[in-house]
Amino acid sequence: MSVRILLLVFLGVLMNAPLFAKAPVALTALVIHGGAGVMSKEALKAEDRLLIRAELDQALDAGNAILKAGGSALDAVTAAIAVLEDSPWFNAGKGAVFNAEGGHELDASIMEGHTRRAGAVAGVSTVKHPIKLARAVMEHSPHVLLAGAGAEQFADTRSEIERVAPSYFDTERRRQQLEKARALESAQAMATVPGTYFGTVGAVALDQHGHIAAGTSTGGMTNKRWSRIGDSPIIGAGTYANDRCGVSSTGWGEFYIRAVAAFDICARVEYRGDSLAKAAAEVVNHIVPKLGGDGGAIALDGEGNITMPFNTSGMFRGWIHPDGKRGTAIFADDE
Ligand code: ASP
Repeated sequence: MSVRILLLVFLGVLMNAPLFAKAPVALTALVIHGGAGVMSKEALKAEDRLLIRAELDQALDAGNAILKAGGSALDAVTAAIAVLEDSPWFNAGKGAVFNAEGGHELDASIMEGHTRRAGAVAGVSTVKHPIKLARAVMEHSPHVLLAGAGAEQFADTRSEIERVAPSYFDTERRRQQLEKARALESAQAMATVPGTYFGTVGAVALDQHGHIAAGTSTGGMTNKRWSRIGDSPIIGAGTYANDRCGVSSTGWGEFYIRAVAAFDICARVEYRGDSLAKAAAEVVNHIVPKLGGDGGAIALDGEGNITMPFNTSGMFRGWIHPDGKRGTAIFADDE
């Protein structure tokens, strides 16, 4: 090949380069949840509903500010979840449920779609924002899931991870729920009494670069024992993301693990070409209940479509569509 032809080829490649590079798109979207569960309009006072929805709005604002500034979906998810972990209304971070020993064991996970990197922690009790520790596992360890004392030791090596006394997570409301669960406890029922979970938090975001991330954080189930771990820190069950779909689940974790719920939603989109809404509805409303479980999920795809199915009486949730339309809701008929 002559030098002139080589030069022409080189120039041609140079001119066409923008066609091949993934140009940043302005499209962003964000969806969050504060848990699905058994709740009633009578039990949840109107003023409390307003407070909860204000907290959801705050989490949306935190994530959205990052997305609008061109930040990553990963940062948006981390920021939105950290706000919910700070709120005593949700079963994650401050306000986490009590286990059978009267303590707290917190679980969290996070996943970045386009790289499919993931990190998770289970059973931590001194980490103020478990979602940040899950992310540190992803970014600063060769592992995906760390549990208990080992996860705490890993946290000791990360100066950015804020630590608190285990009693920081205590709230009176959750203590009363523990008392109630203890009173109800029968010889066999133990940790899997329906309705003993509620208020897990999660977020899924699409950023301007077309990347998706998802995360979930929880205190698990009230009165849990034996170091029980639910779906929230299990990649594929509680959290999943790839380059075209992201999911965070909430509900009766044992069934979400058995259904590999978050992965199944994205797999249906990828393998079968199902719409996101159809895929999520099938898993949440048919597959999980058929096994005996209940709950909900939030999901988002690369076009910014959002879906939030649940089969419990309510699910705390909030969203911002690519066109900027946003909202929060608790019950199915909330505006
Ligand atoms: N899925 C969580 C767990 O089983 C609980 C919840 O979503 O509220 O630990």
